[in-house]
Amino acid sequence: MKYKKSQVIMFWFLPLILIGGLFYPLLGYLVVGMMVFFIVLSFFRGRYWCWNLCPRGSFLDIFLSNISLNRQNPKIFGNQLFRWLVFFAFMGFLVYRILSSGGSLAGIGVVFVSMCLITTAISIIIGIIVKHRGWCAICPMGTLQEKIGRLRKNRKE
Ligand code: SF4
Repeated sequence: MKYKKSQVIMFWFLPLILIGGLFYPLLGYLVVGMMVFFIVLSFFRGRYWCWNLCPRGSFLDIFLSNISLNRQNPKIFGNQLFRWLVFFAFMGFLVYRILSSGGSLAGIGVVFVSMCLITTAISIIIGIIVKHRGWCAICPMGTLQEKIGRLRKNRKE
Protein backbone atom coordinates (compact mmCIF):
# COMPACT_ATOMS: atom_id res chain seq x y z
CA MET A 1 0.00 0.00 0.00
CA LYS A 2 1.38 3.40 -1.00
CA TYR A 3 1.07 6.28 1.40
CA LYS A 4 2.13 9.89 1.40
CA LYS A 5 5.01 11.59 3.22
CA SER A 6 2.52 13.82 4.98
CA GLN A 7 0.87 10.69 6.41
CA VAL A 8 4.17 9.37 7.78
CA ILE A 9 4.63 12.65 9.63
CA MET A 10 1.03 13.00 10.81
CA PHE A 11 0.81 9.38 11.98
CA TRP A 12 2.94 10.25 15.03
CA PHE A 13 0.17 12.38 16.47
CA LEU A 14 -1.82 9.20 17.10
CA PRO A 15 0.56 7.59 19.65
CA LEU A 16 1.24 11.05 21.04
CA ILE A 17 -2.46 11.51 21.85
CA LEU A 18 -3.30 7.91 22.76
CA ILE A 19 -0.24 7.10 24.89
CA GLY A 20 0.89 10.58 25.89
CA GLY A 21 -2.72 11.52 26.67
CA LEU A 22 -2.87 8.83 29.36
CA PHE A 23 -0.23 10.79 31.28
CA TYR A 24 -0.98 14.33 30.08
CA PRO A 25 -4.72 14.63 29.45
CA LEU A 26 -4.27 18.13 28.02
CA LEU A 27 -2.92 16.41 24.88
CA GLY A 28 -6.60 15.67 24.21
CA TYR A 29 -6.88 19.29 23.06
CA LEU A 30 -4.80 18.36 20.04
CA VAL A 31 -7.92 16.50 18.91
CA VAL A 32 -9.96 19.68 19.33
CA GLY A 33 -7.38 21.69 17.36
CA MET A 34 -7.41 19.11 14.57
CA MET A 35 -11.21 19.11 14.47
CA VAL A 36 -11.31 22.89 14.06
CA PHE A 37 -8.60 22.69 11.38
CA PHE A 38 -10.25 19.98 9.29
CA ILE A 39 -13.73 21.48 9.57
CA VAL A 40 -12.40 24.72 8.05
CA LEU A 41 -10.29 22.79 5.52
CA SER A 42 -13.22 20.61 4.45
CA PHE A 43 -15.12 23.68 3.30
CA PHE A 44 -12.42 24.24 0.66
CA ARG A 45 -11.02 20.76 0.08
CA GLY A 46 -13.69 18.22 1.08
CA ARG A 47 -12.03 15.17 2.61
CA TYR A 48 -8.45 16.22 1.89
CA TRP A 49 -7.68 15.77 5.59
CA CYS A 50 -8.81 12.13 5.48
CA TRP A 51 -6.59 11.05 2.62
CA ASN A 52 -3.52 13.14 3.41
CA LEU A 53 -3.28 14.25 7.02
CA CYS A 54 -5.48 12.34 9.47
CA PRO A 55 -3.25 10.54 12.01
CA ARG A 56 -5.68 7.63 12.34
CA GLY A 57 -6.22 7.35 8.60
CA SER A 58 -2.43 7.35 8.20
CA PHE A 59 -2.10 4.61 10.79
CA LEU A 60 -4.72 2.54 8.99
CA ASP A 61 -2.95 2.99 5.64
CA ILE A 62 0.57 2.36 6.94
CA PHE A 63 -0.07 -0.55 9.31
CA LEU A 64 -3.57 -2.03 9.05
CA SER A 65 -3.39 -2.38 5.29
CA ASN A 66 -0.79 -5.12 5.84
CA ILE A 67 -2.93 -7.30 8.06
CA SER A 68 -6.48 -6.52 6.89
CA LEU A 69 -8.59 -9.35 5.52
CA ASN A 70 -9.55 -6.78 2.89
CA ARG A 71 -13.19 -7.67 2.41
CA GLN A 72 -16.04 -5.57 1.07
CA ASN A 73 -17.50 -3.13 3.59
CA PRO A 74 -20.98 -4.15 4.79
CA LYS A 75 -23.60 -2.46 2.58
CA ILE A 76 -25.00 -0.56 5.54
CA PHE A 77 -21.74 1.44 5.76
CA GLY A 78 -22.78 3.19 2.57
CA ASN A 79 -26.25 4.02 3.86
CA GLN A 80 -26.54 7.77 4.57
CA LEU A 81 -29.10 7.30 7.34
CA PHE A 82 -26.83 4.82 9.10
CA ARG A 83 -23.86 7.15 8.75
CA TRP A 84 -25.81 10.03 10.29
CA LEU A 85 -27.04 7.76 13.08
CA VAL A 86 -23.41 6.93 13.89
CA PHE A 87 -22.60 10.65 13.72
CA PHE A 88 -25.34 11.72 16.13
CA ALA A 89 -24.71 8.79 18.49
CA PHE A 90 -21.02 9.74 18.61
CA MET A 91 -21.69 13.47 19.08
CA GLY A 92 -24.36 12.79 21.69
CA PHE A 93 -21.97 10.56 23.64
CA LEU A 94 -19.21 13.17 23.32
CA VAL A 95 -21.43 16.00 24.61
CA TYR A 96 -22.75 13.80 27.44
CA ARG A 97 -19.21 12.94 28.51
CA ILE A 98 -18.05 16.57 28.37
CA LEU A 99 -21.02 17.63 30.52
CA SER A 100 -20.23 14.82 32.99
CA SER A 101 -16.52 15.65 33.14
CA GLY A 102 -16.85 18.29 35.85
CA GLY A 103 -15.77 21.06 33.49
CA SER A 104 -12.07 21.04 34.37
CA LEU A 105 -9.59 21.46 31.50
CA ALA A 106 -7.94 18.14 32.33
CA GLY A 107 -11.31 16.39 32.65
CA ILE A 108 -12.37 17.53 29.19
CA GLY A 109 -8.94 16.55 27.84
CA VAL A 110 -9.49 13.03 29.21
CA VAL A 111 -12.80 12.87 27.33
CA PHE A 112 -11.12 13.62 24.00
CA VAL A 113 -8.24 11.21 24.65
CA SER A 114 -10.65 8.42 25.59
CA MET A 115 -12.96 9.10 22.62
CA CYS A 116 -9.91 8.87 20.39
CA LEU A 117 -8.97 5.58 22.08
CA ILE A 118 -12.45 4.13 21.64
CA THR A 119 -12.77 5.10 17.98
CA THR A 120 -9.23 3.91 17.23
CA ALA A 121 -10.02 0.54 18.81
CA ILE A 122 -13.17 0.28 16.66
CA SER A 123 -11.22 1.30 13.55
CA ILE A 124 -8.63 -1.43 14.24
CA ILE A 125 -11.30 -4.14 14.66
CA ILE A 126 -13.09 -3.07 11.45
CA GLY A 127 -9.72 -2.60 9.75
CA ILE A 128 -8.68 -6.18 10.45
CA ILE A 129 -11.91 -8.07 9.88
CA VAL A 130 -13.25 -5.97 7.01
CA LYS A 131 -11.09 -3.43 5.20
CA HIS A 132 -8.17 -1.37 6.49
CA ARG A 133 -10.07 1.90 5.91
CA GLY A 134 -13.47 0.37 6.65
CA TRP A 135 -13.99 2.67 9.61
CA CYS A 136 -13.53 5.74 7.39
CA ALA A 137 -16.79 4.90 5.61
CA ILE A 138 -18.75 5.58 8.81
CA CYS A 139 -16.37 7.78 10.82
CA PRO A 140 -18.44 10.72 12.14
CA MET A 141 -15.65 13.17 11.31
CA GLY A 142 -15.43 11.83 7.75
CA THR A 143 -19.19 12.18 7.36
CA LEU A 144 -19.00 15.76 8.59
CA GLN A 145 -16.18 16.72 6.22
CA GLU A 146 -17.96 15.15 3.29
CA LYS A 147 -21.14 17.09 4.07
CA ILE A 148 -19.32 20.42 4.52
CA GLY A 149 -17.34 19.85 1.30
CA ARG A 150 -20.59 19.19 -0.60
CA LEU A 151 -22.20 22.33 0.79
CA ARG A 152 -19.58 24.46 -0.93
CA LYS A 153 -19.81 22.45 -4.15
CA ASN A 154 -23.59 22.89 -4.20
CA ARG A 155 -23.28 26.64 -3.64
CA LYS A 156 -20.90 26.94 -6.61
CA GLU A 157 -23.25 25.09 -8.96
S1 SF4 B 1 -12.75 9.21 8.05
FE1 SF4 B 1 -12.20 9.71 10.18
S2 SF4 B 1 -10.56 8.30 10.76
FE2 SF4 B 1 -10.81 8.18 8.53
S3 SF4 B 1 -9.30 9.57 7.79
FE3 SF4 B 1 -11.20 10.76 7.95
S4 SF4 B 1 -11.21 11.69 9.98
FE4 SF4 B 1 -9.60 10.13 9.92
